[in-house]
Amino acid sequence: MSKKEKLLLLKDILEAHFEYFPFMSEEKLTDYTECIQTYLKSEDRILQEAALSTCQLFIQNIKGGDLVRKITKNAIRCLSCRDIIESKSIHDFKTCSCCKVSVDGGHDYLQRSYPPGDPSEWYEDLSEWQLVQK
Ligand SMILES: [Zn+2]
Repeated sequence: MSKKEKLLLLKDILEAHFEYFPFMSEEKLTDYTECIQTYLKSEDRILQEAALSTCQLFIQNIKGGDLVRKITKNAIRCLSCRDIIESKSIHDFKTCSCCKVSVDGGHDYLQRSYPPGDPSEWYEDLSEWQLVQK
């Protein structure tokens, strides 16, 4: 692995783990950081992999806990008319001005309607959510 590949892999991992950091104790975060340092410093592939799997394990342990995803924003942008529509409560059904896409579900679930085909052809998802303790 080149230095660049190494950093790119780390970027992906940190992005995936980032939202779990607030739920880690100081001690766990210290261990986690040490594993990342080992990964960065080491030239040994096996050691690198071991360091990363330890990081994964820390995150797995948190995921196994009482965390749930809470929707904080339920919105999409229509790629045809560029409207941004947001559903703010459970039965708040919103349609864009060209009527191609709509959202519903508020902060309870993400409901989308769009013409046949891949959703990414019709809208850009602007939803946000955060992890909270159950
Ligand atoms: Zn539209």
